[in-house]
Amino acid sequence: MVLQGKGAGAGTALGKLYIYSEKYNVPAESVIRADECQSHLDRYNKIKKEALCELDKLKSSVQKADIAKGAIFDAHKEIVEDIILNEEIPAKIQKEFWSGDRAIYHVYETVLNAFKKTPDPLIAERAADFDDVRALLLRLWNGQKSKGLSGLKEPVIIAAGELKPSDTAGLDREKVLAILTETGGVTSHAAIIAKSYGIPAVLGINELLNNVTHGQVAAVDAEKGTVVLDPDTETAAQFNKKSGAFRRDKQDAAFFMEREGRTLCGVKIDIGLNIVNAGNEELCVERYVDSVGLFRTEFLFMGNTLPSEEEQFSSYRKVLECFGKRQVTLRTLDIGGDKQVPWAGFKREDNPFLGNRGIRFCLSNPEIFKTQIRAALRASYYGNLAIMLPMVGSLEDIRAAKAVIAEVNAQLKKEKIQTGAFKIGIMVEIPSIALISGLTAKEVDFASIGSNDLCQYLCAADRMNSDVQNYYQQYHPAMWKLIKETVTAFAQEVKPVSICGELGSDPAAVPALIGLGLRKLSMGAASVAPVKRAIAGLSIEKAQEIAQKVLDLPTADEIKRYLIR
Ligand code: PEP
Ligand code: MG
Repeated sequence: MVLQGKGAGAGTALGKLYIYSEKYNVPAESVIRADECQSHLDRYNKIKKEALCELDKLKSSVQKADIAKGAIFDAHKEIVEDIILNEEIPAKIQKEFWSGDRAIYHVYETVLNAFKKTPDPLIAERAADFDDVRALLLRLWNGQKSKGLSGLKEPVIIAAGELKPSDTAGLDREKVLAILTETGGVTSHAAIIAKSYGIPAVLGINELLNNVTHGQVAAVDAEKGTVVLDPDTETAAQFNKKSGAFRRDKQDAAFFMEREGRTLCGVKIDIGLNIVNAGNEELCVERYVDSVGLFRTEFLFMGNTLPSEEEQFSSYRKVLECFGKRQVTLRTLDIGGDKQVPWAGFKREDNPFLGNRGIRFCLSNPEIFKTQIRAALRASYYGNLAIMLPMVGSLEDIRAAKAVIAEVNAQLKKEKIQTGAFKIGIMVEIPSIALISGLTAKEVDFASIGSNDLCQYLCAADRMNSDVQNYYQQYHPAMWKLIKETVTAFAQEVKPVSICGELGSDPAAVPALIGLGLRKLSMGAASVAPVKRAIAGLSIEKAQEIAQKVLDLPTADEIKRYLIR
């Protein structure tokens, strides 16, 4: 049987499934004797205390990694102690002679049913918290220990409905061959864990838990998003070979993690980190990198309401403090295009990727932009901030954004709020700005090449549309020419330029990028070791020779074949 989902992370794996499910059985509709009421009440009070203890422990273990995630467990503690629930559950036991577990189940069920009737998605989210707490109380009532995933004995493929932060607190990454889940998209907790640990994952598999059994053998392919259950000998042998090679390659590359990004001939290449949230799954590799080359701030804005200045400030401050003197390149809000959010009230656009996206959205919603800049400038006091503007197409865009930043900065000074020094730069991801790099470099402190969007706009191929993926050619000769033009123009102005799109984390592309003059590459955590390995085996002379050859080749396909060879 082959299951299909969305692939995340990288590579393949072959191994036994470990079913991870916190599901419980619905308690029987039992009635107790009057003389049993007190013992059920006592037991309910006892498990409440145990639940609070367990939530405290979870909070402190998760909080070490991410302060914001600790707040989830505070919310769960409030539910355990909720006044109404704690009147109704004892009342059901004492007045209707329901067993304690039956009372817990049904009183929570009434609340959950009320939540389900409201169309407000925020309340629906709250329902998930009530459901989690009910599961915890019923597990404790039945005397079951929390499973979590910290105690895995051997390497396994985890199959779960969903993976929450509480499940993965203390997870031993060496024991996880792959992750499979029923729910979860590319920004889910499971996806972030998979990507930052470099673990293959297939998410969003329909009816996963109904189709698999504990200990069953599975072959996982994260690129295709497939899971072959009980593979035949031939398939198993193929996967064994592939996943063995994937693991060996990972171990081999891991050796380079602790090293600097330095070429064979001794030239330092700055290794930046791309982060998509301020969580510690990403920040834990902080000591292996020189800077944050791209802090995508959109994660804060993906909820149903706009994040407050304070929420933004504490998140930005956390990353800035974590990196100390090293630069944190905070990209201002880049929504629109594929990233639609409920609070923004976007008008329908025929071509959203060509529409009100990135800096255009910010300039047309100045209050949202100003709040973000205010939070960022306040946070600048705690580290080394560089503000990076996305989707810049002209000098007018740059000048308008700089005027807003100057206005906010002046206002903060007026309010006597401390700020630090900061730089202002842009993403080079629209060909129009790349083609006038000579002028652009005079206006900004730095630039970073966003090759993901640069490719989409240069090749006129939607990066999200799988039907035109053959046209989305990151190795297109025009890409290399434009990168060269940008790097040369910034070098003339002695202003730093880096690359933070996926091309910069592709070990095959790294020699040509360095040969074109790039000295800073920024990437996701899982790419740091393989990219450092690619750099370590390279001299600048060889890199320049490779870059020249790439500039001379006529098609993406020939360039790809040449670079891979
Ligand atoms: C890019 O376009 O290359 C980039 C890094 O930004 P994003 O992928 O977030 O659009
Ligand atoms: Mg982009």
